Amino acid sequence: MSRAEPRQRGADLTAGSVRARGIAAGLSAVKVARYEARWHFADAEEDAVGDRIIVAAVEQDYERMQRAPDEQYQLTVRRTLTRLLEGAIEVAGALHAAGYRAKIYASEGGAMTIPYAVSAGLGQLGMNGQLLTPQAGSRARMLLISTDAPLSFDQPVDFGIPGVCDRCRICAQRCPAGAIAVRPREHRGVEKWKIKTERCLPMVAQANGCSVCIKTCPIQRYGLERVLATYRQSGQILPQHATDVGDLETYEWPLDGRTYAAGSRPKLDAEVREPAGLLAARRAEGR
Ligand code: SF4
Ligand code: SF4
Repeated sequence: MSRAEPRQRGADLTAGSVRARGIAAGLSAVKVARYEARWHFADAEEDAVGDRIIVAAVEQDYERMQRAPDEQYQLTVRRTLTRLLEGAIEVAGALHAAGYRAKIYASEGGAMTIPYAVSAGLGQLGMNGQLLTPQAGSRARMLLISTDAPLSFDQPVDFGIPGVCDRCRICAQRCPAGAIAVRPREHRGVEKWKIKTERCLPMVAQANGCSVCIKTCPIQRYGLERVLATYRQSGQILPQHATDVGDLETYEWPLDGRTYAAGSRPKLDAEVREPAGLLAARRAEGR
């Protein structure tokens, strides 16, 4: 059977059945968005095989996330990405079996994941520059699958996350590198929260993947519903009655082995903020 002329174009293949296959294979969510050329990198535009993009997501382990950025954290990330890829392969296999085309994008290549996830109603952009889902904050890891299967589209949802971020700002206060701006800035003609990658990437590279901005986010720990309920009752973002609020903002910094609670952050020397290799690369690029 050729993929160009499939033997059977699965009449009973629905977004619901594809989602069920993905969930059974270990995914946390499977959503469908409309293909948008502007969200694809120029050298990968041809990779799209249809007018639908499936967003597959897996929630990273809750318990492990609360201890980031410890030594085990990157192992957790790798396990999550493996589970994500296995689930995406299952979804793509179901589409192929029904006679449709499907292509999984590499995790860091091809297309912008967050706009698709927002478009498909999986979550909204948070101040930490990542997608926040109502259940898991930015603990969700995602992969995109391009397909020509005529699956029904999911719709964007206003969960109220930008309003929470405006009042919260914990990630910006806790980020060791000062990489998170509290005000949105223009990027490719759109006003949005965008982290300063030149400050962030050295931390990710040297501090077990960092991710302090994920670990300290109240939505990833308590869920959006509880955060909003707390705000409606008390005008506070954090559930003050909880016993682990102090722990939420506290993290151990792997580069000096010290623990930093709310109001304190690691002191980063120049070599940590800008490692020699990175500095040389920036000089070579004339920046
Ligand atoms: S820590 Fe607060 S400001 Fe940052 S992403 Fe989470 S909810 Fe938004
Ligand atoms: S990963 Fe670390 S350095 Fe980067 S934005 Fe998040 S907290 Fe800041």
